[in-house]
Amino acid sequence: MIAQVAVDASTHRILNYLVPASLQGKAEAGFRVRVPLRSRLVLGTIIEISSEAEHFEGLRPIHEIIGSTPMIRPTLLALAQWVAEYYCAPLETILRCMLPSSLRGAEMTSRERRFLMLARSIEGEEIAHLQKVAPRQAQLLTTLLKAKKGKVAFQEVGLRGISELARGLERRGLVSIVKERVHRDPFAGEVFLPNDAPPLSGDQQRVLEVIIGSIRAPDRSPPLLLHGVTGSGKTEIYLGAICETLRLGRTAMVLVPEISLTPQTVERFKSRFASIQEEVIVIHSHLSEGERFDAWHKIHSGGARIVIGARSAIFVPLENLGLIVVDEEHENSYKQEEAPRYHARDLAVLRGSKEKCAVLLGSATPSLESYFNARKGKYRLLELRTRADDRSMPIIRILDLRRLKHHGGGNIILSPSLCVAIQERLARQEQVILFLNRRGFSTALVCAVCGHVCQCPDCSLSLTYHRVNARLVCHLCGHTAKIPERCPGCKDPTIRYSGIGTQKIEEISRQLFPNARIARMDADSMTRKNAHREVLGLFKSGQIDLLIGTQMIAKGLHFPNVTLVGVINADLGLHLPDFRAGERTFQLLTQVAGRAGRGEMQGEVFVQTFTPFSPAIQFARHHDYEGFFEQEIQFRECFGHPPFSRLMLLTIRAAHRERAEFSAQTLARKLKKVLPTSVIFGQPAPAPLEKVKGQFRFHLSLRVKSISKLVRLIRPVLEKMSFPEGVRLAIDVDPYQLL
Ligand code: ADP
Ligand code: ZN
Repeated sequence: MIAQVAVDASTHRILNYLVPASLQGKAEAGFRVRVPLRSRLVLGTIIEISSEAEHFEGLRPIHEIIGSTPMIRPTLLALAQWVAEYYCAPLETILRCMLPSSLRGAEMTSRERRFLMLARSIEGEEIAHLQKVAPRQAQLLTTLLKAKKGKVAFQEVGLRGISELARGLERRGLVSIVKERVHRDPFAGEVFLPNDAPPLSGDQQRVLEVIIGSIRAPDRSPPLLLHGVTGSGKTEIYLGAICETLRLGRTAMVLVPEISLTPQTVERFKSRFASIQEEVIVIHSHLSEGERFDAWHKIHSGGARIVIGARSAIFVPLENLGLIVVDEEHENSYKQEEAPRYHARDLAVLRGSKEKCAVLLGSATPSLESYFNARKGKYRLLELRTRADDRSMPIIRILDLRRLKHHGGGNIILSPSLCVAIQERLARQEQVILFLNRRGFSTALVCAVCGHVCQCPDCSLSLTYHRVNARLVCHLCGHTAKIPERCPGCKDPTIRYSGIGTQKIEEISRQLFPNARIARMDADSMTRKNAHREVLGLFKSGQIDLLIGTQMIAKGLHFPNVTLVGVINADLGLHLPDFRAGERTFQLLTQVAGRAGRGEMQGEVFVQTFTPFSPAIQFARHHDYEGFFEQEIQFRECFGHPPFSRLMLLTIRAAHRERAEFSAQTLARKLKKVLPTSVIFGQPAPAPLEKVKGQFRFHLSLRVKSISKLVRLIRPVLEKMSFPEGVRLAIDVDPYQLL
């Protein structure tokens, strides 16, 4: 027999090994193994066992198999192989997602504790006898007899030489020594009070019934897309669906975007399922290696019934799946931006069909792709058109910044009507959120006289103005520079005051509303581990009146006392060279607006913009998702953008511009030779962000009807191709990052 092994250390090759007689029947796909590679022994994973091979001579045998069960089960192995194929990525990179590094060592690093347990009931005389022959053993035994549940951890006893004493007692047949793995639970010690489901509204009930039908008979139901306006009670429906899944004896997985994986979200799930709290596992990027290890083992050993996690949780070894929920399915953070560049929502649909479980995608602003799938009947559409409890949708007002600009000269940051509205809320002790989409170039230092923009010398990106230490920072590579005294272009001194960032908004707000309690929440102010949790806690309990923030505060948060949301500049992000720019702006405005008026009081949203008539802004204003979809899908069809085609983006980068460009052109030539004319080629062109971290980047985009056909044709070419030194290629299938 031959085993194909993906070796941890060698990303690009699968190697063949002989299965020695001693391991026949034991070695199966998914087992971790130690195999010889040159003069070393290395770790790897068996991908396949077969009796055929081109040649048996010279094959070396597997050294040993690790553990008594496969670490990666067949269903997941099949998923990994599919992902590797579709995303044109080495299999090993996907196995890395399934088996994080802390789980790859041969030795178990879980914390094990040894316990002493009574082996049988013990008479008083026996103890008396023991006291004479082995007084210290007797002492240990008496401690054990006093312990609760007849069991005590070695650590707790605090006797010197306890291991030796315990073994002595064990030899006498009085006690047994057991080892138990201690689960490192980041939520240990937190108490989640049970929280019962509210009675569902008629609409919610109808939606839930369809979902339950799908959970019961997943093979007869396509994936479900739940389009429900913000605050319509989607989460309540997920909870109901999970409840039903558990009742059927199956497990559930919930994916949420990393930034929505807040304490609030976790609490909602943990509280609803308080009675099985320990079987609700949360996986996020801040887990320590130990916590990740333990969470994985708990899931692998069948100790988890609900897993909540961000993108990478799609790969956890949860068995007996009955339901996969993808909340905020439109979120771009489901797409991994490094190899393997998979999309967790798409994998959820795939995993669901492979494991025969229901898949529920939910969003207030479904991605064009998903809604299109629902229109075509590939998904089934479910809708919630009103907010839970009939609360009304917030009123959205558009403030045209063009008119305001000319009066005082320079840019207006908070328009007078927004200031008045804030004043009113503060006076009524209601809360306000000010939102700045900072992924745009707003925080650039732009000279108002000559238009000069301060740029990073290593990346073709404007530098971001940071007020705290008065520096310019490149958000791609971290390059910092001093703020120029005068514009490098025209020597005008006012350039120093032109950046608008959250810090500047905070400063202005403090001047305008001196009595308000103000906090800022963005990537810079949230570097401390619990800062996020603390600020949200203070805001929730009403100790902050005005919260200023970026994307971080746009999603999923629920604060009943927020009655006003101000969007500082809706245009940021609208003019990026990306066919999804309009969609993203629409989504963001709708989501931000959804933060207002979640309580008894009517919510209001002020959107400041220089382009008040752009469709993304107008449709968001009227809460008109379908209107937006209709017009956007026409635009996509007209230009052949996804979902009317599939994209593959090849990025070639090198420290020398010519080298990158040359390699891109060579690659394009070679591909053109093998690809049919139905593949639409872009010319190799400098990426919109041409230079990142000192590397010049060239794009080659391919548009096709079917990705798998393209991959089959392209892979052999890419594998044979050798690039000059220092030139790298990244392959992105269904790309989201087009800059
Ligand atoms: P979404 O996930 O769509 O934004 P949520 O599930 O968070 O909506 O619901 C919004 C608010 O309405 C929450 O406070 C939730 O507890 C409440 N809610 C949802 N469904 C009901 C219901 N049937 N009865 C009462 N309150 C509800
Ligand atoms: Zn840079």
